[in-house]
Formats: sequence, structure tokens, C-alpha cells
Amino acid sequence: MRATMMSTPLTLSHLLDRAARLFGRIEIVSQTPQKSLLRHCYADVQRRARALSQALLAAGLARGDRVATLMWNHHVHLEAYFGIPAAGGVIHTLNLRLHPDDLTYIASHAEDRFLIVDDVLLPILESFAGRVDFERVIVATHSGDAVPSGMQRYEAFLESATDSARLPDIAEDEAAGLCYTSGTTGRPKGVVYSHRALVLHSFACGLADMMGLCQRDVALPVVPMFHVNAWGLPYTATLVGCKQVLPGPHLDPVSLLDLCERERVTLSAGVPTVWLGLLRELDAAPDRWKLAPGLRLLVGGSAAPPSMIRGFDRHGLHVMHLWGMTETTPLGTASTLKSYLEDLPEEEQLAVRATQGLPAPFVEARAMGEQGEAAWDGKTLGELQVRGPWIADGYFKVPESDRWTDDGWFCTGDVVSIDPEGYVKIADRTKDLIKSGGEWISSVELENALMGHASVREAAVIAIPDPRWQERPLAVVVLEEGAQVTADELRAFLADRFAKWWIPDAFEFVDSIPRTATNKFLKSALRAQFASRGGSERDA
Ligand code: AMP
Repeated sequence: MRATMMSTPLTLSHLLDRAARLFGRIEIVSQTPQKSLLRHCYADVQRRARALSQALLAAGLARGDRVATLMWNHHVHLEAYFGIPAAGGVIHTLNLRLHPDDLTYIASHAEDRFLIVDDVLLPILESFAGRVDFERVIVATHSGDAVPSGMQRYEAFLESATDSARLPDIAEDEAAGLCYTSGTTGRPKGVVYSHRALVLHSFACGLADMMGLCQRDVALPVVPMFHVNAWGLPYTATLVGCKQVLPGPHLDPVSLLDLCERERVTLSAGVPTVWLGLLRELDAAPDRWKLAPGLRLLVGGSAAPPSMIRGFDRHGLHVMHLWGMTETTPLGTASTLKSYLEDLPEEEQLAVRATQGLPAPFVEARAMGEQGEAAWDGKTLGELQVRGPWIADGYFKVPESDRWTDDGWFCTGDVVSIDPEGYVKIADRTKDLIKSGGEWISSVELENALMGHASVREAAVIAIPDPRWQERPLAVVVLEEGAQVTADELRAFLADRFAKWWIPDAFEFVDSIPRTATNKFLKSALRAQFASRGGSERDA
């Protein structure tokens, strides 16, 4: 066999070791629950992550054991991101917004042995701890040193580390992380991330046309570190050695804007709801914050309305739209403009930026319709299927699943069209599509349009059973404070852009739209609430 290249394992420890060696004094800033800022640097994080690995090994952590975390975004969570996998363990991030029953199910199903928890989140732990058998609970203290009996202080746990505990050699295909899907239907399912997947994913995220990070950036993940590894941002930021600003529990728009201004943040990431809130503050007081010029906002998790992208353009802030899932680590597609599309009129550019974008390198995408693979014509709808080195090939401890095709693609459950340039555009989740008189109506397009109306804060469109048309769209709308608008006015607003039969027959005005634990509209709850509404007003 001819010599080719060395088979250096792609493992996470390298990212932090390199950052500590080359960018040792670059800061990791953590906001505490009291709103003070703690400053560490990569050298500190590496030292402490190593102590965590050694303490875990001394406590009996075996290869592949799960260590759960129940924490906000801060340096201890970052230490766990590296320290647990470096010890051969698997970091299992628990979503603190889940119902106690779900947390019980997930922690039991994962067989989590240890737990690291924020002291401010102990009330959440209390709500399910009696039903889960954690062998050891380690508490990251932010206010005082006292911890409940039977638990251990994180700092004391680190001090128990002995230098003699040698860190194991890890193979790149070993498990490093575990995250459960938010599953609005059925039981949540576990997705296991390998070291190799997380490393390759970090390289892809770093590319200029994906998340585009470099060492000079200052990255602030608003997306929680318990939601698909904060979209891989902590790993990617460590790969490039840039400053990280971790906001702790303070995710309201004003706190975030204050933090962005104070720490000169250049890149942030979060779901549309977060950015819509921020935009409102900026619109109300455009001169209040001096943000870093060209600040980029990564938006994903649900569709970014074009009106929001345009809104941030007005403030000189650049929105980058991404699509992904728990099963895709999560980066799947990103919507940057191709060079020759920059000559398009602004409105057309905006339409491209508002698509979910082009597949990342090594992520292959296809839309599968009833007649096989849909043409890339920007019109034909099909279910998005993907494959690649950071796409899951099964769920944790679930032997069989219909989410994978016989020829090895993962079925996303998203219904999309792909245009001739390769831009993927989501019409809906399979279960959210509205089928009216045999034709499909995209709830996402209607929602995006409605959210472009000055009086509309949020809009969710759902299918309502209809005796004549099978299903009809119903729009559930939250108005801006003090705004007044009628259903007829909203219908007229939509009439310019959509075929008549797409326009919702009924509008419901509500104070808020129920959300999932990952901040998406909980459409199943809306469907249950409004099941008896609707009508048959559609013209034949
Ligand atoms: P999760 O696994 O909780 O991250 O949810 C993944 C799902 O969120 C995807 O299957 C999509 O339905 C939705 N999603 C993620 N990003 C976007 C986006 N940019 N636009 C529309 N939907 C999205």
C-alpha cells in the first residue's frame, strides 16, 4: 500500500488544546445570573476542562457514560463541552424548558450517570430528580457556595482532580455528545454526535459562506447550549480561537443588546423570535446602542421572515439564514448570495436570502415527491432528504426508524422546493402543510407575509378541517402593542401576493402563540384549540 496521509483522529480535544496554545489569552466572557461578567480565557478553560475530565475519571466515569448538563450558556458549560468528551464520556445537554415528565423520560432513557446543574436551576431539577437516578449531582454555584446535601460543588469537584488520571486516547468515531429531539409528536429521540462529526461540522460552520467565523470575531450564541450544541457555535468559535460571550440566563432583547454593545460582538445566533424582539427595540431607539459595524445575525430554527431580514438591513446588521435539525448537528443549509446573484434587484436578492439556502459541503440534499425526486425548478414540492458525515444514521437505543430510506438518506419531515441554483426553500413541516381542494398551501409563506404587516407581531397559520375543501388555512395573529387591524384588512394585505384560495378564511387574534421548548410555534396546540373554527368561504 502506498503511503498517503497520517490518520490523525478528528477529536474535540484538539480544538481546545490548540486554542489554549495559540490564543490562550482570548476571552470567554460569561454573564452571571446577577448580571456581572466573569472573564476567563482559553488557557483557563482548557485547564479547567482538563480538571473536569480527570475528576470524572476519578469518580469512575467509564467509556461512553453519559454526563447530563442542566445549564445556561456560560464557561462551565463550555468546560463540560470539552471536558466530558475528553474523558471518554458523552455530554448530554438537557433542555431546561422541557416539561418535568419529558426530562424524566429523557434522563432515564439516556441512563445519565452524573449531572452538572446550575444552582439557579435547582428548582427545575427538584421537579423531576425524585424520578431519575443520578449517581452524582455536581452544582455550578453562581450565588453563594451552599449546595443541597447529597450534592457537590463544581469547584470542589474540580479540586478533586488528580494529575495522575491520564486522559484516554479517543477514536474519532466515538460518541461525544447526545441531544434529544424536541418531538412535538411521539417520544423525544436521542441523537448521538461523534467526535468526527462535531469536528467536521465545525470546519464547515467556519466557512465564510456558512457561519463564517474567524479569529477576530466575537461570537455570542443566544441559542442555548442545550439546543443542538448551540448550533455548534462554541466548538466552531474554539476552532478559530475567537472571543466568546456567553449570556447566561439573560436573553431578553435589551440585555442582549447591552451585552453586544459592551463586548463588541460581531456574530450572534438565535431563533427568529429573539431577533424579532431585538428589532423592535432597535426600531424604537435606533441610536441607543453602538453595535459593532457589520454585526452578523445567524437565524435558524424556524423561517426568517423577509421583512425581518430587511428590517435589520436598515440598521446595518446582516442576517444570515440557516436551516438545520437536531439530527443534522445542526448545520444543513445556509443562504448566502452567489457572486452573480448580487446584481439582482434588491427584492429578488431578499427572496434568495430568505430561502433556507444552499446545502453545506458534504451535505447532499434532494426533495422526494410522490413521483420520485422532484426537479430543481423552484416549484415542485417534495420531502427534503439529506445525507452526509454529520447527519445521524439512527436514533439512540431505537433499533428501527422509518426516518431513513433504504438507500441511506435521512427524511427530514420538511417539505421543500429546490430552485435551479440549488437554493432550498421550506414550504412546511409535512404535518403542517395545508391541503385545500387537492392543492397544497404553504403555511410558512403566509406567516412570513403576515409578519411583514406593520401591525402584526407574530402569525401562525394552521389547517382547519373543512367539509368542502378538506382543509382551509386559519391564521392565528398576535398584534403589536396598541395596534388595531381587522381580518378584512389582513386579507386585503395578502390579496396582492397570493392566489385567492390561499387567503385564510378565518383570523383569530390572540395574546400569544404557544411555543415548544425550542421556541417554535406549537401548532398542534393551535390545531386542538381552533379545530371547530373555519368555514367554506373559498370560491370555487
Ligand atoms: P430541531 O430538531 O428542534 O432543531 O428542529 C428542526 C426543524 O426546525 C426542521 O426540521 C425545520 O422544520 C425547522 N427549521 C429549522 N431551521 C429552519 C429554517 N431556517 N426555516 C424553517 N424551518 C426551520
